[in-house]
Amino acid sequence: MKKVISIKDIETIVRNGGDLNALPAGAIITPSARDMIRKHTGGFAKKGDSKGAKGKAAKSGKLSEFSAGAEYDAILFDPKYDALKHEICEMGHRLWTRAYVDGNGGNMSVRIGENMALCTPTLVSKGSLKPDWICLVDLDGKQLAGNMARTSEILMHLQIMKAQPRAKAVCHCHPPHATAFAVAGIQPPTCMIPEMEVFVGIAPLAPYRTPGTPEMGKLVADLSDKHNTILMANHGVVSWSHNGIEDAYFKMEIVEAYCRTVWVASQLGAPMKTFSSEQMKDLLNIKKSLDIPDPRMDFKECELCDNNEWRPGVSCSVPSKPVADQAADVDPGVEEMVKAITDQILAKMK
Ligand SMILES: [Zn+2]
Repeated sequence: MKKVISIKDIETIVRNGGDLNALPAGAIITPSARDMIRKHTGGFAKKGDSKGAKGKAAKSGKLSEFSAGAEYDAILFDPKYDALKHEICEMGHRLWTRAYVDGNGGNMSVRIGENMALCTPTLVSKGSLKPDWICLVDLDGKQLAGNMARTSEILMHLQIMKAQPRAKAVCHCHPPHATAFAVAGIQPPTCMIPEMEVFVGIAPLAPYRTPGTPEMGKLVADLSDKHNTILMANHGVVSWSHNGIEDAYFKMEIVEAYCRTVWVASQLGAPMKTFSSEQMKDLLNIKKSLDIPDPRMDFKECELCDNNEWRPGVSCSVPSKPVADQAADVDPGVEEMVKAITDQILAKMK
């Protein structure tokens, strides 16, 4: 009777570093096993033919310590993902060139299916990423394949992807000016630069948690409903995109340039000018046409300007209420307390 070779047999051979060219002559190879051989050898097994095989694991015919099975290696090293891996490496190079990452900081991920994503490895500079280093994970963070260990911050990426079915890619880095706002605990004020309003919008501040923990991921994912770019207190910035990794990277350039501009403008000695509510409405209409959500879209024109929550630290050019009315709002009890405290401080100083 002829020997039947199944996908399981192929997986065992690959796992043990066996030779796919040395299958018994005349054996019956099941169609799925045949596919697996093709994926691993870049063609049907033939002596000396390894054309198309990608990555160390596939080239050596041996599974790496980070691989959960030959079928996952076949996915990760499928040539159809070559361009995407190169794009991730290119974005890493841009992050490093612009000094948005330091040491081995920063990480990226791209969803490639219902329950799978490619991501960057841990402990390497994003400035010199290699396509062969890109890892495959499931949406719970379990590494499925790769020549290196996945980033330790992947949970945050995946929690965003789970919360946002539209999210195709996530980018995290430490751009200095935006991170400075995150360290100071200041949410960047809005309504000053069109690109920021249209492509990013409000960049809220998530509280600090240890990087890589599920708690950190949850805090960020909770904000991802309304925001595509989130500042992480005392840490950095994370962005997600429904278009791809370059778009997620663009958001980093936009938020970093914006924070730098706001910081410089704040030193110039003149009050910063903001858009009027009509101008903001125009920008939000452009944003709507680009299919980028913004919680302010449902606002009435007047609310855009008259809402301190969206514009912390920036006073509207038109007072929302006459000054006399605002004074009338102050609780006389609070006023008395403030006076008492002020008097005490003054007395102590004397
Ligand atoms: Zn980080």
